[in-house]
Amino acid sequence: MSDAYNELLDAAIQQLQDLKAQGVRFVPVSSEVLSALNSAPRPTRPLPQAQPTPAAAEVPKRVAPASVIPPKPAETEAAPLMTPTVVETSSPAISSVTPEAKAAAFAELRQRVMACVKCEHLASSRQNVVFGVGNIDAQLMFVGEAPGADEDAQGEPFVGKAGQLLTKIIQTMGLQRSDVYIANILKCRPDTPGESAGNRKPTPEEMQTCIPFLHEQIDLIRPQVLVALGATAVEGLLGKTIGITKLRGNWQTYRGIPLMPTYHPAYLLRNQALSEKRRVWEDMLQVMEKLGMAISEKQRNFFLKG
Ligand code: URA
Repeated sequence: MSDAYNELLDAAIQQLQDLKAQGVRFVPVSSEVLSALNSAPRPTRPLPQAQPTPAAAEVPKRVAPASVIPPKPAETEAAPLMTPTVVETSSPAISSVTPEAKAAAFAELRQRVMACVKCEHLASSRQNVVFGVGNIDAQLMFVGEAPGADEDAQGEPFVGKAGQLLTKIIQTMGLQRSDVYIANILKCRPDTPGESAGNRKPTPEEMQTCIPFLHEQIDLIRPQVLVALGATAVEGLLGKTIGITKLRGNWQTYRGIPLMPTYHPAYLLRNQALSEKRRVWEDMLQVMEKLGMAISEKQRNFFLKG
């Protein structure tokens, strides 16, 4: 085998050993990398054995703020689309992963996402990669579609008009943005060449390319409940293209995690009807119930006609 191959192999082994020394027990590997590894020339010396393992079930759960949201067991089920493969770096139960190791894994993921240039057209048009924001130990995670112009400019999801509405919804639930985690299916703003404004839906190729990052974020956070904001989030996470009108309000499952589909806040900005606000609010009441949160009479009655 070539010297270059052996040098790369040594560097990869060193990197894995460094990660292991830092307490990292699992390394996410995308399906493209796995297939590239499978097609690589066979080495002249044996590779260390890596064991595939269920990615989701074992990241330790810490939740914040425990005082606001008492922990609840997640349901089981589900085989989501386009899930990442995870290669174990050693055998200890993942429950032994320390908060430091989790933070290190999250930081390492962030670094990879921030440097991503897989979609060349988006990498060259973006101002910022919009990784995600919030509490990496959150019990509740919101997933949207893709950054818009404001998010692209600020590098943070849901900070434009739709984002301000999402923030209001979160606050009406009795939480702060910093209590939850917010991310998108796509980490870069979909480009609109030749147009000075406007957004477009991510293409299936863009979603397919980017979604492994979201899977990794969810695997590390392991929220008790996911909220999919709009049809694109549902499609990305569940592979379902049934209309959001039919799905919303009905619990789904993403790899054992209860997932509530609801309307995207941008829809509520376009359609100001009280009935639509109430629908989204009823979905959030279901989420609060699932999380065991206290719900006041006032909260129960929001957006009901007087
Ligand atoms: N819409 C989204 O889906 N995500 C954002 O971050 C902002 C608007």
